[in-house]
Order: sequence, then C-alpha cells, then structure tokens
Amino acid sequence: MKEYDVIIIGAGAVGSAIAYRLSANGLKVCVFEKNPDVCFETSARNSGVVHAGFNNPPGSLKAAYCVRGSAGFEEVADRFGIPYKKTGKYVVALTNEDESAVDGLLAQASENGVRAEKKSFRGMPALYSPDTAITDPFKYTIALAEAAHLCGCDFYFEANVRSLESADPESQHNTANIHTSKKSSRRENNYIATITYTDEFGEREYMYSAPYIINCAGLGAAGICRLLGISDFEIVPCRGEYHIADPYFGTIDMPVYPAVRPGADVLGIHLTPTIDGNIMIGPSSEYLNEKMNDADYSTTHDVMEQLFEEGKKLLPGFTKQSIIRSFSGIRPKLRVNGNDYNDFLIRELLPGFIVLLGIESPGLTASFPIAEDVCDMVKLDTSRLRRPKPALESFPYEKMSGASQQICRCESVTANEILAVYDRITSIKATPTLRGIKHRTRLGMGRCQGSFCTAEIVKLLRRERGIDPLKFTLQGKGSELFTRRTR
Ligand SMILES: Cc1cc2nc3c(=O)[nH]c(=O)nc-3n(C[C@H](O)[C@H](O)[C@H](O)COP(=O)(O)OP(=O)(O)OC[C@H]3O[C@@H](n4cnc5c(N)ncnc54)[C@H](O)[C@@H]3O)c2cc1C
Repeated sequence: MKEYDVIIIGAGAVGSAIAYRLSANGLKVCVFEKNPDVCFETSARNSGVVHAGFNNPPGSLKAAYCVRGSAGFEEVADRFGIPYKKTGKYVVALTNEDESAVDGLLAQASENGVRAEKKSFRGMPALYSPDTAITDPFKYTIALAEAAHLCGCDFYFEANVRSLESADPESQHNTANIHTSKKSSRRENNYIATITYTDEFGEREYMYSAPYIINCAGLGAAGICRLLGISDFEIVPCRGEYHIADPYFGTIDMPVYPAVRPGADVLGIHLTPTIDGNIMIGPSSEYLNEKMNDADYSTTHDVMEQLFEEGKKLLPGFTKQSIIRSFSGIRPKLRVNGNDYNDFLIRELLPGFIVLLGIESPGLTASFPIAEDVCDMVKLDTSRLRRPKPALESFPYEKMSGASQQICRCESVTANEILAVYDRITSIKATPTLRGIKHRTRLGMGRCQGSFCTAEIVKLLRRERGIDPLKFTLQGKGSELFTRRTR
C-alpha cells in the first residue's frame, strides 16, 4: 500500500490549489480524480469572473475568501502565466424596484471593504465595481495542477474513490464538529482510501493510506463524507445553462449583471466577456431534484430560448446565428441535516478528515486563499517534510507560431502547439482527450466547433504520438470519437 502525507480527492480549482500549496511546502501529496484530466467538472463550467466580493453577506466565509481571492488573484495569475484582465463590472437595476437591490449591494460592498460606487448604466441606476476581473478557469486550474506536479505531487486520474476507512476506532463523527472544528492528536496513517480504475480488463482496486484526507470533490463531496459514515450533508445540484456568442459578433468591455437582492442564492442571468473575446449569456438556475449519479450537463430547449430573449434585450443586433455553443454548469448547493446552508463549509470533521462542501460561486475566485487556510489545518510533524520547493516561475501555454501545419483554423492552433500540449498532459499522468487539448489550446472553440479540425487532430496524434483513433475520446471512457474502422 502506497503511503502519503495527504490524499486530496478532486482535481478541480480547489483541489489543485490545495495540492500545489501542500506539495510546495514539502508534503508528500497525491490527488485522486475520477475524470481523465483536471478541470472537467464545475471548475470548467462557470462564468470565469474574479468576483470583487460584494455579493456575499458580511461575516460569511464566501465574502471573506472572495475578498482575499480577488485581492491576490492578479499576483497568482502573473506567477503562473494565467490570463487575467481587470474589467470592472456593472450590476444594473432593470426596474425601479431593483434600485433598492443596488443600494443594498452598495452597503454590503462597504461592509465587506470592497470598492463600489453608484453610477448610471444606459440611464438605469447601477453599482459599478472597478475591481471585478475575468480569467480563464481552465488555464488557472491546469497551471496549479502542473505546479503541484512539479513540486512532487502525484496525480491519479480515472481514479474513483469508492471506499474510505479510518483505522482509528475513536474517530466518531459528531454533528457538533460541523460548527466547531475539533482539535485532536494525530495518529499515523489513519485513513485508507480504495480507488477503482476501469479498463478493458475490468475494474481494479488499489489502496493508499495517509493521516490526512482532504475532500474537495465538488458535487461528489457529500458522497465522500458518507463513505466515512457522515450523512448530515446533501449536495443539491442547481444547473445553470449558458449561450456563447461568436467573437465576430463583437464583445463587451465588462460583465453586466442584473441587480438581485442581497442574500439571493444566484446572481441572475448576466453577460460576461470571456478572456478570449466571446460573450457568455447565462447562467439560468434550475434545481435538479433527482439524485444524481452523474452530473447532468444537458442544455434544454426552453432555457436556451429564454437566454436568447435575455441576450436580445441587452445586446442590440443579437441573433441566433451569433450563438456558437451552449453549455451548462452545476452549482453544488449544500444542505446540512435537511436545511439550506448558504455558505462554504470548510471543517476538519474527523481528526485528519478535512471537508470542503458547498464550494459554489465564488469558489473559483476564492480557491487560492482557501488552499492557504486548508494548508494551515494540516498539522504534521515537520521532521517528515521534504525540502520545500522554490517558488516557481510562470510557465504559460503560449501560442506557437513558425512553420507548422494549422490544425484549427478558427482559433489558429498549430500542430506543434497540439503536440506540446499532448506531452504536457501526459507529463502529469492525465489521459489526453479532445476536451483536455481544447481547454489548453482553444482548438475547436471557434465558429466551426471542431467540424473541420477534429479529424485532423486525430490524424496528427496517430502519426506523431501513435494513438489508436478508436480509443481516443472526447472526455473519457464512453465518449469515443469513432466506433469502428470503415476502410
Ligand atoms: C454556473 C456557475 C457559474 C459560476 N461562476 C463563477 C464565477 O464567475 N466566479 C467564481 O469565482 N466562481 C464561479 N462559480 C463557482 C466555481 O466554478 C466553483 O466554486 C469551483 O469551480 C469549485 O471548484 P472545486 O474544485 O471545488 O469543484 P470541481 O471543479 O467540481 O472539482 C471537484 C472534482 O472532484 C472530482 N470527484 C468527485 N467525486 C470524486 C470521487 N469519488 N473520486 C475522485 N474524484 C472525484 C470531480 O470529478 C471533480 O473534478 C460558478 C459555478 C457555476 C456552477
């Protein structure tokens, strides 16, 4: 059985940030991720906004982490070569009644110590936030995972955590711990995690042990708690759908949100520019009441129509032809013992078992300071620490020009770029997929949405990296691009 200091479950933005912080401090860390690559769930399916911190109630963890995350984001982005742009943002009162919501948000901004002022947006009262920014959530998460790997963290992909055992019989879950995190003496290796891999030979199980387990499994986090007999939590999925407009339609300078009253649990359908010049319209809000085994990221006809109508109101000249893609993300809404819990819940629930539950918006913005604090919760004998790694320089994904075949014409992605990215994916032991390459290069994200380049990329990877086209997938097993050879 392989031993680690810390086992992290989930390679989203939060898990990757924690993996980086802990491994940079010299701990022996591993991450289990059920998908073939990092950033395949909520961290890949959001608005990409670095929130300034006025949306969340004063005193909440969401507000505190958002304010810290926003203040430090530019430095993190510079350090790791992550795209970041301070755009500012408007929150607009679309009706007279909404003006009080703008005033409420201004008061909340002032209590949270966040800059905001009252202005007019196209003649309507609005809050203007100068410190809101946008980023690329894929590149952010991938950069932190790669940095963690360079610091010695092991990633295990397609590794579904199916069982957790505590070797410490005194570790009893007590609901009181939810509110007061319990300090206790630590025993060595008191958790055993069993993960399953599935391949053509069937399911295989492996066991790993560590004195600390950090559960940042997003939509799966309550399920991970249940593996240790903790059943107080429920994650209620709340889906948000988006349209994405072609950059040729034009872009907007900054996000524009409708005013919703302070305390509302979603931010309303908004317009957000992406760092690459698209406009996103969304997200809607729909509670999916059925128990989810797998996240249902469908987009639905009625919501698509509704988003289109909202888009037309705010964007003169917006037509259905301007839309190149639709997608959805799912907010992991938290319930504790049947009651809504509208904040992040970050606690050491059992000795050595740290959980992060309800990490919905602004979790992307907040992920780095969350990782700093979770790192402080891990108290291990310092004699076991390896030498901390020196601070890393940035290592961005750069556009590669020069003499190389253009594979994706819409986004100008060359063969050299794809091969370099393929090698970086395998270097962290992730499985190359079309989606993973797309997240790193923007291949297939343009007007043609991969109609012209998908066959070309498969030919390139077969020729240069020897892949079997029949095994190459969109996003992991079950999403193979081809079913059989025809000639
Ligand atoms: C519609 C929408 C819009 C948003 N907009 C913003 C925004 O503009 N700004 C902002 O700051 N935040 C935003 N957020 C919130 C932000 O996206 C999330 O808070 C953040 O991405 C959460 O990251 P995470 O690492 O906790 O979760 P995830 O990214 O979901 O990562 C959890 C990982 O755990 C893995 N996992 C689960 N179960 C298991 C298991 N049993 N074994 C192994 N692995 C497992 C999953 O596969 C997943 O990769 C938005 C969210 C949504 C849904």
